[in-house]
Amino acid sequence: CGIVGYVGPRAAIDVLVGGLKRLEYRGYDSAGVAVIDDDGALVTHKRAGKLGVLEGDLLRAPLPDARTGIGHTRWATHGGPTDANAHPHLGDDGRLALIHNGIIENFASLKDELLDEGFTFSSETDTEVAAVLLGREYRRSGDLLTAFRAVVGRLHGAFTLLAVHADEPGLVVGARRNSPLVVGLGDGEQFLGSDVAAFVEYTRRALAIGQDQIVAIRPDGIELTDFAGEPVEGEEYEVAWDA
Ligand code: GLU
Repeated sequence: CGIVGYVGPRAAIDVLVGGLKRLEYRGYDSAGVAVIDDDGALVTHKRAGKLGVLEGDLLRAPLPDARTGIGHTRWATHGGPTDANAHPHLGDDGRLALIHNGIIENFASLKDELLDEGFTFSSETDTEVAAVLLGREYRRSGDLLTAFRAVVGRLHGAFTLLAVHADEPGLVVGARRNSPLVVGLGDGEQFLGSDVAAFVEYTRRALAIGQDQIVAIRPDGIELTDFAGEPVEGEEYEVAWDA
């Protein structure tokens, strides 16, 4: 039930796991991260269980140098708490990763459409439908933000969604409807969180994302639009926090 995103000069995995720890109080049953390493590869680790289980894997793995990434803690609604159902979920070519808090109410009809087109699934989640759809749209446009906009326009329900693509390092895209998402504004780095606890260690400058808005974060700034792609003004505020 927590979401973190990062772009900037820091080791992304440390920022993501640290942020997920600060969101642990919300409760969860699984955790996962996806990063784009400095060689342009997408690296994903995800596990059912407490964050400690994921951290054990990360300690044993040869960890990449990566400065772009997304992290997730899951509270299962569709599909049990298993490694396969944990987020991130991938597009069919394995080049993009997506995480989601909430419920995609029309996932069954979208899944039927994708199955008819020959796509396959490796989880029981509603979320994977959005990941596979994003892969299909990316193939059409070759642009993550364009593809992401096409996907969120087709979803009903409640969602905070973040996605990255291996061909677009230095970019995390996010969207929200009936579910929270906040930007943390940094100097040469930007953060996303389901609440400010995810990034308050690094910055107190936050920007509220309104209902039905899409945000793109890059190290040098952010871009905020509505679901149709029209620019909107964000509302910046200072986080008051006794850390
Ligand atoms: N509905 C999604 C799932 O079951 C996301 C749940 C959540 O909010 O963590 O995987």
